[in-house]
Amino acid sequence: MTPKRDYARLFDLTGRKAIVTGGSRGIGRALAEALAAQGADVAIVVRSSLALAEALAATLNAGGGDSFAVQADVSKPDDVARVAAEVERRWGRADILVNNAGIIHPGPAEDFPLDLWRDTMAVNVEGVLLMSQAIGAMMIRQKAGSIVNVGSMSGRIVNWPFRHAAYNVSKAAVHMLTKCLATEWAEHGVRVNAIAPGYILTELTEEVLRENPEVVKNHWAAGAVQNRIGTVDELAGAVVYLASDAASFTTGEIHTVDGGLTLR
Ligand code: NAD
Repeated sequence: MTPKRDYARLFDLTGRKAIVTGGSRGIGRALAEALAAQGADVAIVVRSSLALAEALAATLNAGGGDSFAVQADVSKPDDVARVAAEVERRWGRADILVNNAGIIHPGPAEDFPLDLWRDTMAVNVEGVLLMSQAIGAMMIRQKAGSIVNVGSMSGRIVNWPFRHAAYNVSKAAVHMLTKCLATEWAEHGVRVNAIAPGYILTELTEEVLRENPEVVKNHWAAGAVQNRIGTVDELAGAVVYLASDAASFTTGEIHTVDGGLTLR
């Protein structure tokens, strides 16, 4: 029987133009690689490690393609405007934006320094807003586009025993911003979703694993019904799905990928 629709191409991103922030390492790197594997060209936005991002772009372009690296701090409006201008100049369009860049400043709430609170919000919340405004303007003009924000389980639950209220509040804000933008931009054909990862092994969390293996075993892994932490590869499918036409009727969704950590 001949299928009525070409379902095999639902996740195909051939020729799509994608921007991934914080894409030189960790989760962002895996997401950039996954989008490229589905056929997208990727602009890898990095704050400091330009050489690393350029090497990744060269790898992604090995079989052909037009991925590139660009240095920018997502919390700085001028930097963000420069990224959008470069995307416009080079590609003339933007189909996918993954707002992955994020930071965490741990510390108890009672004497948490205001400058660290503000730094957390500047990168994790304002960075998502600024990038979405700059790249979203192109998507609104095109009447098409998909934004995927990297939120966190920490936007839904309070992690324990480590305390990091600023981070948790920032990720809850990312989730709500996702829903607000999805609502406002649906009429322009732009979808906005988020993933909410659980504990994932990256450079960020490796240090904790090294210094506090018991916390990782007894709280992070044991907290998930699957009794383990996740890998960056386990986030790739969710982001490819949300970025692709397979998710054409999905917007404002916070897609949890946490091994069941937030179930209990
Ligand atoms: P990471 O520290 O390895 O990567 C973060 C990346 O963001 C780095 O490349 C960093 O340079 C970049 N970045 C930070 N501030 C920036 C800025 N101002 N401008 C541009 N780039 C900036 O961390 P990761 O574990 O890969 O985390 C990636 C995202 O996933 C973050 O938003 C994080 O909050 C989120 N997350 C991580 C976990 C986890 O367990 N690792 C769980 C849930 C959510």
